[in-house]
Amino acid sequence: MQREAKKLKVGIFDFTDCEGCQVKLVSLRERLLALLERVEIVNWRLGQEKNRMDRFDLVLIEGCPITQDEIDLLKLLRERSTHLIGFGTCATMGGIPAIMDQKERAKWYNKIYGPQYKPRGIDSLPLTSYVKVDFLIHGCPVDENEIVRVMEELLSGKKPAYRGYSVCFQCKLAGNPCRLINGKPCLGPVTQGGCGAICVSGGSPCYGCFGIRDTAQIEGLLDILKGMADKEEIERYFTMFLRYTKEYNEIVRPFMERENG
Ligand code: SF4
Ligand code: SF4
Ligand code: SF4
Repeated sequence: MQREAKKLKVGIFDFTDCEGCQVKLVSLRERLLALLERVEIVNWRLGQEKNRMDRFDLVLIEGCPITQDEIDLLKLLRERSTHLIGFGTCATMGGIPAIMDQKERAKWYNKIYGPQYKPRGIDSLPLTSYVKVDFLIHGCPVDENEIVRVMEELLSGKKPAYRGYSVCFQCKLAGNPCRLINGKPCLGPVTQGGCGAICVSGGSPCYGCFGIRDTAQIEGLLDILKGMADKEEIERYFTMFLRYTKEYNEIVRPFMERENG
């Protein structure tokens, strides 16, 4: 008699975020059911009632840890998991919770909630600020095809790989006129592909939510952007999602400081 293959034990956790990436997971529907034949979901607060803390083969984490409780849980999950994957831009780069400049938090809390408000949140930082993360599934929200691709690669014992092309590649395949050629800013050339250039196809620029791709020519793009946007606008593009990336700190920030004299 053939023995049934051992199922991968999976935990899906969420920190501070909008839960939109988990909705993408649910929206896989039949494809999610097919994955569930090969994995055991041990813990998923949003998806099932009975959950347990166990050892996990794979933990997917959505959201940004902003309280000490969330940071402690993240560290515990790292200890208990073989693979830990950031799921969505809030987890991989800080995302929406990190858009605000952290130095301005006190000012905005005071303005919105009043002086009595005592926030529980600390800084909004990506998972990699606290623990080693084995792979990042970027996107705000994540793309369904990317979830399936990464899960399939893990289930077949492979190390998932990042896409080897930029958003521009898929943008060209979609037949969009190029914003940069028409004098409008766009971060497509330095952004990892995989989203299908959905924003540009819908009439918006790319703000880089899939993260900076390897070998991106950021200095070259900054020189091009300088000819079509002022410093504040360039800063706004790069701080929407990329504020906590190594590339922002090592290349874009010094560039902006030089521009500011
Ligand atoms: S990455 Fe975007 S869609 Fe996903 S949880 Fe964060 S804000 Fe929501
Ligand atoms: S519009 Fe943006 S994403 Fe599309 S080709 Fe031009 S630079 Fe690349
Ligand atoms: S076009 Fe850019 S901002 Fe939009 S989903 Fe793709 S990577 Fe993210």
